[in-house]
Amino acid sequence: MDVLVHICCGICILEPLRELRDEGREVLGAWVNPNIEPAGEHDRRLDALRTVARLEDLPLVRLDAEPFDPPAPEPSDERCGYCYRLRLLPTARLAAETGSAFTTTLFYSRYQRHDLLLSIALELARETGAPLLYRDWRPLFARGRSRAKKLGIYRQRYCGCRASQLAGRKE
Ligand code: SF4
Repeated sequence: MDVLVHICCGICILEPLRELRDEGREVLGAWVNPNIEPAGEHDRRLDALRTVARLEDLPLVRLDAEPFDPPAPEPSDERCGYCYRLRLLPTARLAAETGSAFTTTLFYSRYQRHDLLLSIALELARETGAPLLYRDWRPLFARGRSRAKKLGIYRQRYCGCRASQLAGRKE
């Protein structure tokens, strides 16, 4: 493996995976998303990823993280920054241990706080010593959605936490 990819859901890995493999990279996917509420939704997204992993012959690893305990009640830089760090820290640590680079499918979403996410990923690269493989995959968003629809992959309607569900904030 030369890149460990934190994966937020089955849909969001489709196009990044194709691009990384086109670059000749060997990819391992990491599932670490304690922010997804309720538990049934977490499991549904994980099942969707497992379906994609079978179709794409993608190896996966599940990583542990601290429990989700956000510092602010509503989606904001503070809350989402905490949430990004919570998920990317175990990813970057494993990448450092295995001599790989790391990245995240969150860079694919049009709805994430992209600049904040990038600054946190860069901080974690400095802290852990694992190189960040940064790609702005947002231009591939529409193509990935349409592929997911054709494949019948579950498409969630909110980012992940209960506050994002209440606010109708997309992933
Ligand atoms: S809105 Fe999304 S990124 Fe922000 S805290 Fe909720 S799940 Fe995390």
